[in-house]
Amino acid sequence: MPSADEHKPRAAVQPAEPKPIIFAVDDDLGVLGAVARDLRREYGEHYRILRASSGADALSDLEKLKLANHAVALFLVDQRMPEMSGLEFLGAARELYPDAKRALLTAYADSQASIQAINETRLDYYLMKPWDPPEERLYPVVTELLDDWRAEHRPTYAGLTLLGYPYSAATHDLKDFLGRNLVPYRWLDVESAPEAEELLRLSHTGADDLPVLLLNDGSVLVKPTMGQVAERIGLQTTAGMQLYDLVIVGAGPAGLAAAVYASSEGLATVLIESHSPGGQAGQSSRIENYLGFPAGLSGSELSRRATTQAKRFGAEILTPTVAVGLRREDPYRFVRLADGTEIGGKAVLVATGVSYRKLDTPGAERLSGMGVYYGAALSEAMVVKGRHAVVIGGGNSAGQAAVYLSRFAERVSILVRGSGLAATMSQYLVAQIEQTPNIEVRVRTVLEDIVGTDRLEAVTICDLEGGTSETLPAAAVFVFIGAAPRTDWLTDAVGADPQGYLYTGADLGKSSTLPSGWNVDREPYWLETSVPGVFAAGDVRHRSVKRIASAVGEGAMALQFVHQHLASL
Ligand SMILES: Cc1cc2nc3c(=O)[nH]c(=O)nc-3n(C[C@H](O)[C@H](O)[C@H](O)COP(=O)(O)OP(=O)(O)OC[C@H]3O[C@@H](n4cnc5c(N)ncnc54)[C@H](O)[C@@H]3O)c2cc1C
Repeated sequence: MPSADEHKPRAAVQPAEPKPIIFAVDDDLGVLGAVARDLRREYGEHYRILRASSGADALSDLEKLKLANHAVALFLVDQRMPEMSGLEFLGAARELYPDAKRALLTAYADSQASIQAINETRLDYYLMKPWDPPEERLYPVVTELLDDWRAEHRPTYAGLTLLGYPYSAATHDLKDFLGRNLVPYRWLDVESAPEAEELLRLSHTGADDLPVLLLNDGSVLVKPTMGQVAERIGLQTTAGMQLYDLVIVGAGPAGLAAAVYASSEGLATVLIESHSPGGQAGQSSRIENYLGFPAGLSGSELSRRATTQAKRFGAEILTPTVAVGLRREDPYRFVRLADGTEIGGKAVLVATGVSYRKLDTPGAERLSGMGVYYGAALSEAMVVKGRHAVVIGGGNSAGQAAVYLSRFAERVSILVRGSGLAATMSQYLVAQIEQTPNIEVRVRTVLEDIVGTDRLEAVTICDLEGGTSETLPAAAVFVFIGAAPRTDWLTDAVGADPQGYLYTGADLGKSSTLPSGWNVDREPYWLETSVPGVFAAGDVRHRSVKRIASAVGEGAMALQFVHQHLASL
Protein backbone atom coordinates (compact mmCIF):
# COMPACT_ATOMS: atom_id res chain seq x y z
CA MET A 1 0.00 0.00 0.00
CA PRO A 2 1.40 3.42 -0.81
CA SER A 3 2.06 5.63 2.16
CA ALA A 4 0.67 8.71 0.50
CA ASP A 5 -2.20 8.90 -1.89
CA GLU A 6 -2.63 12.25 -3.56
CA HIS A 7 -6.31 12.13 -4.29
CA LYS A 8 -7.23 14.26 -7.24
CA PRO A 9 -10.82 13.60 -8.23
CA ARG A 10 -10.50 13.43 -11.99
CA ALA A 11 -12.98 16.19 -12.43
CA ALA A 12 -11.43 18.51 -9.90
CA VAL A 13 -8.79 21.06 -10.60
CA GLN A 14 -5.49 20.66 -8.80
CA PRO A 15 -5.20 23.78 -6.64
CA ALA A 16 -2.44 26.03 -7.86
CA GLU A 17 0.64 26.01 -5.66
CA PRO A 18 0.62 29.27 -3.72
CA LYS A 19 3.53 31.63 -4.32
CA PRO A 20 6.67 30.37 -2.58
CA ILE A 21 7.80 32.46 0.35
CA ILE A 22 10.80 34.66 1.00
CA PHE A 23 11.03 35.02 4.76
CA ALA A 24 12.87 38.01 6.28
CA VAL A 25 13.71 38.08 10.01
CA ASP A 26 15.22 41.09 11.80
CA ASP A 27 14.64 42.57 15.27
CA ASP A 28 15.21 46.10 13.93
CA LEU A 29 11.79 47.03 12.61
CA GLY A 30 13.15 49.78 10.39
CA VAL A 31 15.58 47.40 8.69
CA LEU A 32 12.90 44.70 8.47
CA GLY A 33 10.46 47.06 6.77
CA ALA A 34 13.12 48.26 4.33
CA VAL A 35 14.28 44.79 3.34
CA ALA A 36 10.69 43.55 2.93
CA ARG A 37 9.89 46.58 0.74
CA ASP A 38 12.91 46.02 -1.49
CA LEU A 39 12.19 42.31 -1.80
CA ARG A 40 8.52 42.91 -2.63
CA ARG A 41 9.42 45.42 -5.34
CA GLU A 42 11.67 42.98 -7.16
CA TYR A 43 10.12 39.59 -6.35
CA GLY A 44 6.54 40.29 -5.22
CA GLU A 45 5.01 39.09 -8.47
CA HIS A 46 6.28 35.54 -8.03
CA TYR A 47 7.00 35.27 -4.30
CA ARG A 48 5.17 36.09 -1.10
CA ILE A 49 7.32 38.20 1.24
CA LEU A 50 6.79 37.39 4.93
CA ARG A 51 8.58 38.93 7.87
CA ALA A 52 9.04 38.43 11.60
CA SER A 53 10.87 40.45 14.22
CA SER A 54 12.30 37.52 16.18
CA GLY A 55 13.45 33.98 15.58
CA ALA A 56 10.75 32.63 17.91
CA ASP A 57 7.93 34.40 16.04
CA ALA A 58 9.33 33.26 12.73
CA LEU A 59 9.50 29.62 13.87
CA SER A 60 5.92 29.71 15.07
CA ASP A 61 4.83 31.06 11.65
CA LEU A 62 6.90 28.43 9.90
CA GLU A 63 5.13 25.62 11.75
CA LYS A 64 1.80 26.88 10.43
CA LEU A 65 3.17 27.26 6.93
CA LYS A 66 4.53 23.73 7.05
CA LEU A 67 1.14 22.37 8.16
CA ALA A 68 -0.50 24.16 5.25
CA ASN A 69 2.18 22.75 2.94
CA HIS A 70 3.48 26.14 1.76
CA ALA A 71 6.93 26.28 0.23
CA VAL A 72 9.66 28.56 1.59
CA ALA A 73 12.30 29.47 -0.99
CA LEU A 74 14.62 31.72 0.99
CA PHE A 75 15.36 32.90 4.52
CA LEU A 76 17.02 36.29 4.80
CA VAL A 77 17.94 36.72 8.45
CA ASP A 78 19.74 39.22 10.63
CA GLN A 79 22.58 37.62 12.59
CA ARG A 80 22.48 39.83 15.70
CA MET A 81 19.11 39.30 17.35
CA PRO A 82 18.44 38.99 21.11
CA GLU A 83 17.40 35.54 22.43
CA MET A 84 17.99 33.71 19.19
CA SER A 85 20.76 34.62 16.78
CA GLY A 86 20.27 34.43 13.04
CA LEU A 87 22.39 31.28 12.81
CA GLU A 88 20.47 29.61 15.62
CA PHE A 89 17.22 30.42 13.86
CA LEU A 90 18.47 29.09 10.54
CA GLY A 91 19.49 25.84 12.24
CA ALA A 92 15.97 25.37 13.61
CA ALA A 93 14.30 26.49 10.37
CA ARG A 94 16.34 23.95 8.45
CA GLU A 95 14.59 21.14 10.34
CA LEU A 96 11.29 22.33 8.87
CA TYR A 97 12.49 23.53 5.49
CA PRO A 98 15.70 21.71 4.62
CA ASP A 99 15.57 22.79 0.97
CA ALA A 100 15.08 26.54 1.52
CA LYS A 101 18.06 28.76 0.74
CA ARG A 102 19.58 30.48 3.76
CA ALA A 103 21.22 33.90 3.78
CA LEU A 104 22.42 36.03 6.68
CA LEU A 105 22.24 39.80 6.76
CA THR A 106 25.25 40.90 8.70
CA ALA A 107 27.01 44.02 9.80
CA TYR A 108 30.66 44.24 8.81
CA ALA A 109 31.78 43.13 12.25
CA ASP A 110 29.97 39.79 11.91
CA SER A 111 31.41 38.83 8.58
CA GLN A 112 34.08 36.49 9.97
CA ALA A 113 31.45 34.59 11.92
CA SER A 114 29.38 34.35 8.77
CA ILE A 115 32.19 32.97 6.68
CA GLN A 116 32.74 30.36 9.36
CA ALA A 117 29.01 29.61 9.35
CA ILE A 118 28.96 29.04 5.60
CA ASN A 119 31.29 26.15 6.19
CA GLU A 120 29.77 24.83 9.38
CA THR A 121 26.04 25.19 8.83
CA ARG A 122 25.81 25.16 5.05
CA LEU A 123 24.71 28.77 4.96
CA ASP A 124 24.20 29.70 1.32
CA TYR A 125 25.30 33.32 1.46
CA TYR A 126 25.87 36.30 3.65
CA LEU A 127 24.91 39.83 2.69
CA MET A 128 26.29 42.99 4.15
CA LYS A 129 24.21 45.76 5.66
CA PRO A 130 23.40 48.27 4.29
CA TRP A 131 22.52 46.80 0.88
CA ASP A 132 21.99 50.04 -1.07
CA PRO A 133 21.61 50.17 -3.95
CA PRO A 134 19.68 46.84 -3.93
CA GLU A 135 20.15 46.45 -7.70
CA GLU A 136 23.84 45.96 -7.04
CA ARG A 137 24.10 44.60 -3.54
CA LEU A 138 20.93 42.61 -2.89
CA TYR A 139 19.11 41.47 -6.02
CA PRO A 140 21.96 39.70 -7.85
CA VAL A 141 22.57 37.43 -4.87
CA VAL A 142 18.93 36.85 -4.04
CA THR A 143 18.06 36.16 -7.70
CA GLU A 144 20.80 33.58 -7.95
CA LEU A 145 19.68 31.86 -4.77
CA LEU A 146 16.07 31.82 -5.94
CA ASP A 147 17.05 30.46 -9.35
CA ASP A 148 18.96 27.65 -7.63
CA TRP A 149 16.02 26.92 -5.36
CA ARG A 150 13.59 26.83 -8.33
CA ALA A 151 15.84 24.46 -10.23
CA GLU A 152 15.75 21.96 -7.35
CA HIS A 153 12.22 22.57 -6.12
CA ARG A 154 9.53 19.99 -6.78
CA PRO A 155 6.14 21.76 -6.64
CA THR A 156 4.34 20.95 -3.42
CA TYR A 157 0.78 19.73 -3.14
CA ALA A 158 -1.43 22.68 -2.28
CA GLY A 159 -4.70 21.03 -1.28
CA LEU A 160 -5.90 19.69 2.05
CA THR A 161 -4.02 16.98 3.92
CA LEU A 162 -5.88 14.18 5.68
CA LEU A 163 -3.99 12.16 8.27
CA GLY A 164 -5.47 8.90 9.45
CA TYR A 165 -5.37 5.13 9.65
CA PRO A 166 -6.20 3.21 6.48
CA TYR A 167 -8.78 1.01 8.17
CA SER A 168 -10.75 3.59 10.09
CA ALA A 169 -14.44 4.17 9.46
CA ALA A 170 -14.14 7.88 10.34
CA THR A 171 -11.21 8.34 7.94
CA HIS A 172 -13.10 6.47 5.23
CA ASP A 173 -16.15 8.74 5.69
CA LEU A 174 -14.01 11.86 5.33
CA LYS A 175 -12.19 10.53 2.27
CA ASP A 176 -15.51 9.64 0.72
CA PHE A 177 -16.98 13.05 1.56
CA LEU A 178 -14.01 15.03 0.21
CA GLY A 179 -13.63 12.88 -2.88
CA ARG A 180 -17.29 12.95 -3.79
CA ASN A 181 -17.49 16.70 -3.21
CA LEU A 182 -14.55 17.01 -5.63
CA VAL A 183 -12.28 18.57 -3.02
CA PRO A 184 -8.67 17.66 -3.85
CA TYR A 185 -6.84 16.28 -0.84
CA ARG A 186 -3.71 14.39 0.05
CA TRP A 187 -4.19 11.37 2.26
CA LEU A 188 -1.33 10.31 4.49
CA ASP A 189 -1.42 6.93 6.17
CA VAL A 190 0.04 7.61 9.62
CA GLU A 191 1.35 4.07 9.79
CA SER A 192 3.62 4.41 6.81
CA ALA A 193 3.84 7.92 5.32
CA PRO A 194 7.21 9.41 6.33
CA GLU A 195 5.80 12.95 6.56
CA ALA A 196 2.89 12.00 8.80
CA GLU A 197 4.87 11.89 12.03
CA GLU A 198 6.23 15.41 11.59
CA LEU A 199 2.81 16.80 10.67
CA LEU A 200 1.26 15.22 13.77
CA ARG A 201 3.99 16.75 15.92
CA LEU A 202 3.60 20.20 14.36
CA SER A 203 -0.18 20.10 14.68
CA HIS A 204 0.12 18.97 18.34
CA THR A 205 -2.08 15.97 17.61
CA GLY A 206 -1.64 12.28 18.26
CA ALA A 207 -3.10 8.88 17.54
CA ASP A 208 -6.20 9.61 19.65
CA ASP A 209 -7.06 12.67 17.55
CA LEU A 210 -7.23 10.93 14.19
CA PRO A 211 -8.49 11.58 11.62
CA VAL A 212 -6.91 15.02 11.42
CA LEU A 213 -7.51 17.39 8.53
CA LEU A 214 -4.95 20.11 7.78
CA LEU A 215 -6.36 23.08 5.90
CA ASN A 216 -4.61 25.42 3.49
CA ASP A 217 -4.54 28.24 6.05
CA GLY A 218 -2.58 26.11 8.51
CA SER A 219 -5.52 25.31 10.78
CA VAL A 220 -6.08 21.84 12.14
CA LEU A 221 -9.41 19.99 12.40
CA VAL A 222 -9.42 17.07 14.83
CA LYS A 223 -11.97 14.30 14.13
CA PRO A 224 -14.08 16.79 12.17
CA THR A 225 -17.69 16.18 11.22
CA MET A 226 -18.72 16.54 7.58
CA GLY A 227 -20.55 19.74 8.52
CA GLN A 228 -17.43 21.29 10.07
CA VAL A 229 -15.36 20.37 7.04
CA ALA A 230 -18.02 21.73 4.69
CA GLU A 231 -18.08 25.04 6.48
CA ARG A 232 -14.31 25.42 6.49
CA ILE A 233 -13.87 24.55 2.81
CA GLY A 234 -16.60 26.93 1.72
CA LEU A 235 -19.52 24.65 0.90
CA GLN A 236 -22.91 26.26 1.43
CA THR A 237 -24.68 24.63 4.38
CA THR A 238 -27.52 27.04 5.11
CA ALA A 239 -30.20 28.44 2.84
CA GLY A 240 -30.04 32.06 1.73
CA MET A 241 -33.83 32.53 1.85
CA GLN A 242 -36.75 31.16 3.83
CA LEU A 243 -39.09 30.51 0.92
CA TYR A 244 -38.27 29.19 -2.55
CA ASP A 245 -40.31 28.44 -5.65
CA LEU A 246 -38.85 24.94 -5.64
CA VAL A 247 -37.11 22.92 -2.92
CA ILE A 248 -35.35 19.85 -4.31
CA VAL A 249 -34.27 17.12 -1.92
CA GLY A 250 -31.39 15.02 -3.27
CA ALA A 251 -28.66 16.15 -5.67
CA GLY A 252 -28.27 13.00 -7.75
CA PRO A 253 -28.84 13.17 -11.51
CA ALA A 254 -32.60 13.73 -11.08
CA GLY A 255 -32.25 16.56 -8.54
CA LEU A 256 -29.40 18.22 -10.42
CA ALA A 257 -31.26 18.11 -13.73
CA ALA A 258 -34.34 19.61 -12.07
CA ALA A 259 -32.16 22.33 -10.48
CA VAL A 260 -30.60 23.24 -13.84
CA TYR A 261 -33.98 23.54 -15.55
CA ALA A 262 -35.69 25.29 -12.63
CA SER A 263 -33.01 27.89 -12.08
CA SER A 264 -32.47 28.48 -15.80
CA GLU A 265 -36.20 29.12 -16.08
CA GLY A 266 -36.05 31.74 -13.37
CA LEU A 267 -37.38 29.80 -10.37
CA ALA A 268 -35.82 30.47 -6.96
CA THR A 269 -34.38 27.01 -6.36
CA VAL A 270 -32.61 25.31 -3.49
CA LEU A 271 -31.14 21.83 -3.55
CA ILE A 272 -30.72 19.94 -0.27
CA GLU A 273 -28.06 17.21 -0.35
CA SER A 274 -27.12 15.00 2.58
CA HIS A 275 -23.67 13.97 1.32
CA SER A 276 -22.35 15.19 -2.02
CA PRO A 277 -23.81 16.20 -5.38
CA GLY A 278 -23.87 13.39 -7.94
CA GLY A 279 -25.67 10.74 -5.90
CA GLN A 280 -25.05 7.16 -6.93
CA ALA A 281 -23.91 8.29 -10.36
CA GLY A 282 -21.10 10.24 -8.69
CA GLN A 283 -19.69 6.94 -7.44
CA SER A 284 -19.51 5.41 -10.88
CA SER A 285 -15.95 4.97 -12.11
CA ARG A 286 -17.01 4.97 -15.77
CA ILE A 287 -20.42 5.66 -17.24
CA GLU A 288 -20.38 4.20 -20.73
CA ASN A 289 -24.03 4.49 -21.71
CA TYR A 290 -24.90 8.14 -21.10
CA LEU A 291 -25.98 9.86 -24.29
CA GLY A 292 -23.42 12.13 -25.92
CA PHE A 293 -20.27 10.67 -24.31
CA PRO A 294 -19.09 7.94 -26.69
CA ALA A 295 -15.84 7.46 -24.77
CA GLY A 296 -17.71 7.36 -21.45
CA LEU A 297 -17.20 9.71 -18.56
CA SER A 298 -16.64 9.29 -14.87
CA GLY A 299 -19.42 9.92 -12.38
CA SER A 300 -17.39 12.65 -10.71
CA GLU A 301 -16.98 14.46 -14.04
CA LEU A 302 -20.72 14.30 -14.67
CA SER A 303 -21.43 15.58 -11.14
CA ARG A 304 -18.97 18.42 -11.43
CA ARG A 305 -20.40 19.57 -14.74
CA ALA A 306 -24.00 19.38 -13.51
CA THR A 307 -23.22 21.13 -10.21
CA THR A 308 -21.40 23.96 -12.00
CA GLN A 309 -24.30 24.32 -14.42
CA ALA A 310 -26.93 24.46 -11.66
CA LYS A 311 -24.92 27.01 -9.66
CA ARG A 312 -24.27 29.12 -12.76
CA PHE A 313 -28.02 29.53 -13.20
CA GLY A 314 -28.36 30.55 -9.56
CA ALA A 315 -29.52 27.38 -7.77
CA GLU A 316 -28.34 27.11 -4.17
CA ILE A 317 -26.86 23.73 -3.23
CA LEU A 318 -26.69 22.96 0.50
CA THR A 319 -24.16 20.23 1.36
CA PRO A 320 -24.13 18.30 3.64
CA THR A 321 -27.68 18.99 4.72
CA VAL A 322 -30.14 16.25 5.56
CA ALA A 323 -33.90 16.48 5.05
CA VAL A 324 -35.68 14.73 7.94
CA GLY A 325 -39.32 15.67 7.44
CA LEU A 326 -41.95 17.20 5.20
CA ARG A 327 -45.10 19.06 6.20
CA ARG A 328 -47.73 20.96 4.29
CA GLU A 329 -49.25 24.27 5.24
CA ASP A 330 -51.22 25.16 2.15
CA PRO A 331 -50.20 26.58 -0.19
CA TYR A 332 -46.62 25.99 1.01
CA ARG A 333 -44.60 22.84 1.69
CA PHE A 334 -41.88 22.81 4.35
CA VAL A 335 -38.84 20.55 4.40
CA ARG A 336 -37.44 20.05 7.91
CA LEU A 337 -33.67 19.73 8.21
CA ALA A 338 -31.64 17.71 10.69
CA ASP A 339 -30.73 20.88 12.63
CA GLY A 340 -34.42 21.56 13.25
CA THR A 341 -34.77 24.46 10.81
CA GLU A 342 -37.20 24.43 7.92
CA ILE A 343 -37.03 25.55 4.30
CA GLY A 344 -40.29 26.53 2.66
CA GLY A 345 -41.22 25.95 -0.96
CA LYS A 346 -44.19 26.54 -3.21
CA ALA A 347 -43.28 23.15 -4.64
CA VAL A 348 -41.00 20.31 -3.52
CA LEU A 349 -39.26 17.68 -5.62
CA VAL A 350 -38.16 14.49 -3.87
CA ALA A 351 -35.15 13.02 -5.69
CA THR A 352 -33.53 11.09 -2.86
CA GLY A 353 -32.78 7.98 -4.91
CA VAL A 354 -31.80 4.73 -3.28
CA SER A 355 -29.06 3.54 -0.96
CA TYR A 356 -27.21 0.27 -0.93
CA ARG A 357 -28.74 -2.58 0.94
CA LYS A 358 -26.49 -3.58 3.86
CA LEU A 359 -24.94 -7.01 4.32
CA ASP A 360 -26.40 -9.04 7.15
CA THR A 361 -23.30 -11.25 7.36
CA PRO A 362 -21.84 -11.45 10.90
CA GLY A 363 -19.14 -8.83 11.39
CA ALA A 364 -20.24 -6.70 8.44
CA GLU A 365 -21.62 -3.86 10.51
CA ARG A 366 -18.66 -3.78 12.88
CA LEU A 367 -16.16 -3.61 10.00
CA SER A 368 -18.15 -1.16 7.88
CA GLY A 369 -15.64 1.46 6.66
CA MET A 370 -12.81 -0.74 7.97
CA GLY A 371 -12.61 -3.06 4.99
CA VAL A 372 -16.31 -3.44 4.24
CA TYR A 373 -17.47 -0.73 1.86
CA TYR A 374 -20.80 0.08 0.27
CA GLY A 375 -20.08 1.49 -3.18
CA ALA A 376 -16.93 3.49 -2.41
CA ALA A 377 -14.75 1.63 -4.91
CA LEU A 378 -13.31 4.97 -6.01
CA SER A 379 -12.22 6.33 -2.66
CA GLU A 380 -10.89 3.06 -1.25
CA ALA A 381 -9.16 1.58 -4.29
CA MET A 382 -5.74 2.18 -2.67
CA VAL A 383 -6.64 -0.12 0.21
CA VAL A 384 -6.51 -3.07 -2.18
CA LYS A 385 -3.32 -2.14 -4.00
CA GLY A 386 -1.43 -5.36 -4.67
CA ARG A 387 -3.95 -7.32 -2.60
CA HIS A 388 -7.18 -9.25 -2.95
CA ALA A 389 -10.50 -7.39 -3.38
CA VAL A 390 -13.91 -9.02 -3.15
CA VAL A 391 -16.92 -7.53 -4.95
CA ILE A 392 -20.36 -8.77 -4.04
CA GLY A 393 -23.18 -8.46 -6.55
CA GLY A 394 -23.89 -9.11 -10.19
CA GLY A 395 -25.28 -5.77 -11.37
CA ASN A 396 -23.66 -3.07 -13.46
CA SER A 397 -22.42 -1.16 -10.44
CA ALA A 398 -20.60 -4.29 -9.19
CA GLY A 399 -19.14 -4.85 -12.66
CA GLN A 400 -17.87 -1.29 -12.94
CA ALA A 401 -16.32 -1.51 -9.49
CA ALA A 402 -14.56 -4.80 -10.31
CA VAL A 403 -13.08 -3.41 -13.54
CA TYR A 404 -11.89 -0.29 -11.75
CA LEU A 405 -10.41 -2.17 -8.80
CA SER A 406 -8.59 -4.60 -11.10
CA ARG A 407 -6.24 -1.73 -11.98
CA PHE A 408 -4.96 -1.67 -8.38
CA ALA A 409 -5.67 -5.05 -6.80
CA GLU A 410 -3.60 -8.13 -7.38
CA ARG A 411 -6.85 -10.08 -7.80
CA VAL A 412 -10.56 -9.25 -7.77
CA SER A 413 -13.20 -11.88 -7.02
CA ILE A 414 -16.82 -11.16 -7.92
CA LEU A 415 -19.27 -13.26 -5.90
CA VAL A 416 -22.68 -13.87 -7.45
CA ARG A 417 -25.49 -15.97 -6.12
CA GLY A 418 -26.81 -16.78 -9.64
CA SER A 419 -25.25 -18.91 -12.34
CA GLY A 420 -23.63 -16.04 -14.26
CA LEU A 421 -23.54 -12.34 -14.99
CA ALA A 422 -25.39 -12.23 -18.31
CA ALA A 423 -28.86 -11.86 -16.80
CA THR A 424 -27.97 -8.97 -14.51
CA MET A 425 -25.08 -7.08 -16.11
CA SER A 426 -24.72 -5.19 -19.42
CA GLN A 427 -22.92 -7.15 -22.13
CA TYR A 428 -20.15 -4.55 -22.53
CA LEU A 429 -19.20 -4.99 -18.87
CA VAL A 430 -19.39 -8.80 -19.01
CA ALA A 431 -17.00 -8.63 -21.98
CA GLN A 432 -14.61 -6.30 -20.13
CA ILE A 433 -14.58 -8.63 -17.14
CA GLU A 434 -13.86 -11.66 -19.33
CA GLN A 435 -10.94 -9.82 -20.87
CA THR A 436 -9.42 -8.76 -17.53
CA PRO A 437 -7.08 -11.52 -16.37
CA ASN A 438 -7.04 -10.60 -12.68
CA ILE A 439 -10.85 -10.69 -12.25
CA GLU A 440 -12.47 -14.01 -11.39
CA VAL A 441 -16.22 -14.55 -11.23
CA ARG A 442 -17.39 -17.02 -8.61
CA VAL A 443 -20.92 -18.03 -9.53
CA ARG A 444 -23.41 -19.71 -7.16
CA THR A 445 -21.28 -18.35 -4.32
CA VAL A 446 -22.28 -16.32 -1.25
CA LEU A 447 -20.43 -14.54 1.51
CA GLU A 448 -20.67 -16.52 4.73
CA ASP A 449 -18.44 -14.72 7.20
CA ILE A 450 -16.29 -11.66 7.58
CA VAL A 451 -13.08 -12.15 9.51
CA GLY A 452 -11.14 -9.44 11.34
CA THR A 453 -11.05 -7.58 14.64
CA ASP A 454 -10.27 -3.97 13.84
CA ARG A 455 -9.92 -4.36 10.07
CA LEU A 456 -11.01 -6.86 7.49
CA GLU A 457 -8.55 -9.72 7.18
CA ALA A 458 -10.39 -12.47 5.33
CA VAL A 459 -13.75 -13.61 4.06
CA THR A 460 -15.37 -17.01 4.23
CA ILE A 461 -17.34 -17.85 1.12
CA CYS A 462 -19.67 -20.74 0.46
CA ASP A 463 -20.16 -22.58 -2.82
CA LEU A 464 -23.93 -23.16 -2.98
CA GLU A 465 -23.62 -26.13 -5.28
CA GLY A 466 -20.98 -28.16 -3.46
CA GLY A 467 -21.89 -26.75 -0.04
CA THR A 468 -18.20 -26.22 0.72
CA SER A 469 -16.75 -23.20 2.51
CA GLU A 470 -13.42 -21.54 1.90
CA THR A 471 -11.64 -18.73 3.74
CA LEU A 472 -9.69 -16.28 1.57
CA PRO A 473 -7.47 -13.43 2.74
CA ALA A 474 -8.98 -10.13 1.55
CA ALA A 475 -8.12 -6.46 1.95
CA ALA A 476 -11.62 -5.19 1.25
CA VAL A 477 -15.15 -6.22 0.38
CA PHE A 478 -17.19 -3.90 -1.85
CA VAL A 479 -20.91 -4.51 -1.58
CA PHE A 480 -23.44 -3.97 -4.39
CA ILE A 481 -26.40 -6.15 -3.48
CA GLY A 482 -29.35 -4.03 -4.43
CA ALA A 483 -30.86 -0.94 -3.02
CA ALA A 484 -33.69 0.50 -0.95
CA PRO A 485 -35.41 3.88 -1.50
CA ARG A 486 -34.36 6.71 0.78
CA THR A 487 -37.81 7.72 1.91
CA ASP A 488 -37.74 6.97 5.68
CA TRP A 489 -37.66 10.71 6.33
CA LEU A 490 -41.04 11.14 4.65
CA THR A 491 -42.68 8.68 7.09
CA ASP A 492 -46.33 8.64 6.05
CA ALA A 493 -46.45 12.13 4.59
CA VAL A 494 -46.35 10.83 1.02
CA GLY A 495 -47.88 7.64 -0.43
CA ALA A 496 -45.39 4.84 -1.08
CA ASP A 497 -45.39 1.16 -2.10
CA PRO A 498 -44.52 -1.53 0.48
CA GLN A 499 -40.78 -1.14 -0.24
CA GLY A 500 -40.99 2.64 0.27
CA TYR A 501 -40.82 3.75 -3.39
CA LEU A 502 -43.06 6.78 -3.98
CA TYR A 503 -46.22 6.53 -6.02
CA THR A 504 -46.67 9.27 -8.60
CA GLY A 505 -49.18 10.26 -11.27
CA ALA A 506 -51.24 7.40 -12.65
CA ASP A 507 -50.05 5.06 -9.85
CA LEU A 508 -52.14 7.12 -7.45
CA GLY A 509 -55.39 6.23 -9.18
CA LYS A 510 -58.08 8.09 -11.00
CA SER A 511 -60.35 10.75 -9.49
CA SER A 512 -62.54 8.09 -7.87
CA THR A 513 -59.60 6.72 -5.82
CA LEU A 514 -57.46 9.79 -5.20
CA PRO A 515 -55.39 9.77 -2.02
CA SER A 516 -56.84 11.21 1.15
CA GLY A 517 -55.75 14.81 1.59
CA TRP A 518 -55.84 15.42 -2.16
CA ASN A 519 -57.53 18.83 -2.09
CA VAL A 520 -57.13 20.20 -5.61
CA ASP A 521 -59.63 19.88 -8.38
CA ARG A 522 -57.57 17.84 -10.81
CA GLU A 523 -55.82 14.49 -11.04
CA PRO A 524 -52.15 14.28 -10.04
CA TYR A 525 -49.66 15.29 -12.70
CA TRP A 526 -47.47 12.51 -14.03
CA LEU A 527 -44.58 12.99 -11.56
CA GLU A 528 -46.69 14.31 -8.70
CA THR A 529 -46.95 12.36 -5.45
CA SER A 530 -50.00 11.91 -3.22
CA VAL A 531 -49.44 15.47 -1.92
CA PRO A 532 -50.30 18.22 -4.44
CA GLY A 533 -47.19 20.27 -5.23
CA VAL A 534 -44.81 17.54 -4.03
CA PHE A 535 -43.17 15.77 -6.96
CA ALA A 536 -40.79 12.80 -7.23
CA ALA A 537 -38.20 11.93 -9.88
CA GLY A 538 -35.53 9.32 -10.44
CA ASP A 539 -34.80 6.06 -8.63
CA VAL A 540 -36.99 6.95 -5.64
CA ARG A 541 -40.14 6.58 -7.73
CA HIS A 542 -42.25 3.42 -7.80
CA ARG A 543 -41.22 1.32 -10.84
CA SER A 544 -38.42 3.73 -11.82
CA VAL A 545 -35.93 2.68 -14.49
CA LYS A 546 -32.73 3.05 -12.37
CA ARG A 547 -30.66 4.71 -15.07
CA ILE A 548 -28.89 8.05 -15.10
CA ALA A 549 -30.57 9.14 -18.32
CA SER A 550 -34.05 8.38 -17.00
CA ALA A 551 -33.33 10.18 -13.70
CA VAL A 552 -32.09 13.21 -15.65
CA GLY A 553 -35.11 13.02 -17.95
CA GLU A 554 -37.55 12.84 -15.07
CA GLY A 555 -35.84 15.70 -13.26
CA ALA A 556 -36.21 17.83 -16.36
CA MET A 557 -39.80 16.77 -17.00
CA ALA A 558 -40.84 17.44 -13.43
CA LEU A 559 -40.35 21.15 -14.12
CA GLN A 560 -43.19 21.15 -16.61
CA PHE A 561 -45.54 20.06 -13.81
CA VAL A 562 -43.95 22.34 -11.22
CA HIS A 563 -44.71 25.30 -13.49
CA GLN A 564 -48.34 24.20 -13.87
CA HIS A 565 -48.65 23.83 -10.10
CA LEU A 566 -47.09 27.27 -9.45
CA ALA A 567 -49.43 28.86 -11.99
CA SER A 568 -52.42 27.53 -10.06
CA LEU A 569 -51.37 29.04 -6.71
C1 LIG B 1 -21.66 2.46 -8.81
C2 LIG B 1 -22.84 2.76 -9.70
C3 LIG B 1 -22.65 2.82 -11.07
C4 LIG B 1 -23.73 3.14 -11.91
N1 LIG B 1 -23.52 3.19 -13.25
C5 LIG B 1 -24.52 3.54 -14.08
C6 LIG B 1 -24.29 3.66 -15.48
O1 LIG B 1 -23.18 3.43 -15.98
N2 LIG B 1 -25.34 4.04 -16.26
C7 LIG B 1 -26.59 4.30 -15.76
O2 LIG B 1 -27.48 4.69 -16.52
N3 LIG B 1 -26.84 4.18 -14.43
C8 LIG B 1 -25.84 3.80 -13.59
N4 LIG B 1 -26.08 3.66 -12.23
C9 LIG B 1 -27.43 3.97 -11.72
C10 LIG B 1 -27.61 5.49 -11.60
O3 LIG B 1 -26.50 6.04 -10.96
C11 LIG B 1 -28.89 5.83 -10.83
O4 LIG B 1 -29.99 5.30 -11.53
C12 LIG B 1 -29.04 7.35 -10.70
O5 LIG B 1 -27.95 7.91 -10.01
C13 LIG B 1 -30.35 7.71 -9.97
O6 LIG B 1 -30.37 9.09 -9.80
P1 LIG B 1 -31.29 9.80 -8.69
O7 LIG B 1 -31.04 11.25 -8.84
O8 LIG B 1 -32.68 9.32 -8.82
O9 LIG B 1 -30.80 9.26 -7.28
P2 LIG B 1 -29.37 9.14 -6.61
O10 LIG B 1 -28.29 9.09 -7.63
O11 LIG B 1 -29.50 7.98 -5.68
O12 LIG B 1 -29.23 10.49 -5.79
C14 LIG B 1 -30.00 10.76 -4.66
C15 LIG B 1 -29.33 11.81 -3.82
O13 LIG B 1 -30.18 12.17 -2.74
C16 LIG B 1 -29.42 12.35 -1.55
N5 LIG B 1 -30.30 12.14 -0.40
C17 LIG B 1 -30.90 10.98 -0.04
N6 LIG B 1 -31.65 11.19 1.08
C18 LIG B 1 -31.52 12.49 1.41
C19 LIG B 1 -32.06 13.30 2.46
N7 LIG B 1 -32.88 12.80 3.36
N8 LIG B 1 -31.69 14.59 2.51
C20 LIG B 1 -30.87 15.13 1.58
N9 LIG B 1 -30.34 14.40 0.56
C21 LIG B 1 -30.67 13.10 0.47
C22 LIG B 1 -28.34 11.30 -1.68
O14 LIG B 1 -27.21 11.63 -0.89
C23 LIG B 1 -28.03 11.33 -3.17
O15 LIG B 1 -27.00 12.24 -3.48
C24 LIG B 1 -25.03 3.35 -11.37
C25 LIG B 1 -25.21 3.27 -9.98
C26 LIG B 1 -24.13 2.98 -9.15
C27 LIG B 1 -24.34 2.90 -7.68
